[in-house]
Amino acid sequence: MKIKTREGREIELKQDKVDSLRMQLPGRVILPGDTGYEESRSVWNGMIDRRPSIVARCLGSADVITCVRFAHDNDLLLCIKGGGHNIAGLATADGALMLDMSLMRGVWVDTQQKIAHAQAGCLLGDVDRETQVYGLAAVLGFVSLTGIAGLTLGGGFGYLTRRWGWTADNVAGMDVVTADARLVRASNEENPDLFWALRGGGGNFGVVTGIDYALYSVGPEIVGGVVAWPATEAPKVLELYRTLAETAPPELTLALLMRPAPPAPWLPKDRHGTPIVALLACYTGNPAEGEKAVAPIKSFGSPIGDILVRRPYAQMQSLLDATQPKGRRYYWKSEYLPRIDPDLCEKVQVHASRIRSPHSAVILFQIGGALNRLGEEISPVGNRDARYVLNVASAWEQPGEDGANITWAGEAWNDMKVFSTGGTYINFLTEDEGPERTKTALGKALHRLAQVKKRWDPDNMFRTNHNIKPV
Ligand SMILES: Cc1cc2nc3c(=O)[nH]c(=O)nc-3n(C[C@H](O)[C@H](O)[C@H](O)COP(=O)(O)OP(=O)(O)OC[C@H]3O[C@@H](n4cnc5c(N)ncnc54)[C@H](O)[C@@H]3O)c2cc1C
Repeated sequence: MKIKTREGREIELKQDKVDSLRMQLPGRVILPGDTGYEESRSVWNGMIDRRPSIVARCLGSADVITCVRFAHDNDLLLCIKGGGHNIAGLATADGALMLDMSLMRGVWVDTQQKIAHAQAGCLLGDVDRETQVYGLAAVLGFVSLTGIAGLTLGGGFGYLTRRWGWTADNVAGMDVVTADARLVRASNEENPDLFWALRGGGGNFGVVTGIDYALYSVGPEIVGGVVAWPATEAPKVLELYRTLAETAPPELTLALLMRPAPPAPWLPKDRHGTPIVALLACYTGNPAEGEKAVAPIKSFGSPIGDILVRRPYAQMQSLLDATQPKGRRYYWKSEYLPRIDPDLCEKVQVHASRIRSPHSAVILFQIGGALNRLGEEISPVGNRDARYVLNVASAWEQPGEDGANITWAGEAWNDMKVFSTGGTYINFLTEDEGPERTKTALGKALHRLAQVKKRWDPDNMFRTNHNIKPV
């Protein structure tokens, strides 16, 4: 079969070699045309259409070791698919050997130590479901179908970030298969340089097979949801957001969205597709306190929809899932912000009014709090001056609409990036954002990451990521 080397050269891989891999992973080696191949190769962003030559569906560290050794011995291009949610489609590569981790979704909760051990193929919802049984939660993201591995390796933020920092700040240890096919532990005690690098430097350093998360008491009931108003109310709602967010306790996370109204049952039918401004709120402390904290939002003006209520935390964690279906075409532009400037609020409205698709949005996430208080050197995620995330999130259905939607996002970002901290989120970088943007995301940590890369992956085996060259 035709397959690619690490450097991207096409070679012929002899059938006996493919057969030997098949024998070691019975029933779990999938080739183009086999049942399950299309599912494995497809990722969340419908713009990405790549065809790995072999897919290996791993069950655990032993399978990962086998595959890494196979890739090493045959000089093959390797890619790793966690939840497949990376916007740049980094999980998949033409002609590669793909490690599909989607069978590795076990979660074990240690209630004494308050640690969840999750296999690296878990989606966020897998971890939330298991930890919430005990009224515990890890710091994860906003959409339950996202993979834990990619999210954590790039930093990670969600409704608990204001209380406890980046997801990567809340990892106790990882199990990793290295470029020389050894299973090692990465923690503050064991291989601390590798542990540091994994928490923000992406999948550059090995295949992570398990992640240990610190857990906190959260829920099961919290106060969370969305309130929406017509976009004509945007000046006032943006000002409400700006002032409320500045003084909000860490238990409360607020996000503002401007977009055409989705066809959601909680919004009146005649409003579907019309421009709205919405506040997403989640209070993860005591629900009675939460109701008081969100009262100014619920009583503000005349909303056209309000689902900001007491609800299970796990439900809140999947509230946005339906707005982000797999297979749609997506293109994002993003920056970290130090504050919400009134001038930025004006620009948010201007660019929201120019949205070209019913699925696109301009979003301001609040993340300030614990992450600002931790030291810059703790992990390469850095960006400890970030208090908000601006995401110009373009989403549409048809390839013929690519140009208009990509142009919209680019123009909006160009006009608003002046408000940036100067940093950006590595996990929100698109396919066309190259090494310069990786530098913007990783900043001063990049040099140290390159040194760690040299120690753990000198031949750059793990390169289908925002790649860090060994020095
Ligand atoms: C709808 C949506 C919502 C999102 N919401 C949030 C959010 O709330 N907060 C947030 O912080 N981010 C969010 N993100 C961004 C998300 O963190 C990144 O897209 C992340 O890369 C997804 O991880 P994944 O495992 O699904 O990705 P994949 O596409 O599977 O992988 C991404 C990268 O990680 C590498 N990788 C995956 N698994 C492993 C492994 N086991 N070992 C080594 N490397 C591995 C891959 O090779 C690839 O380079 C969101 C993304 C989407 C699409």
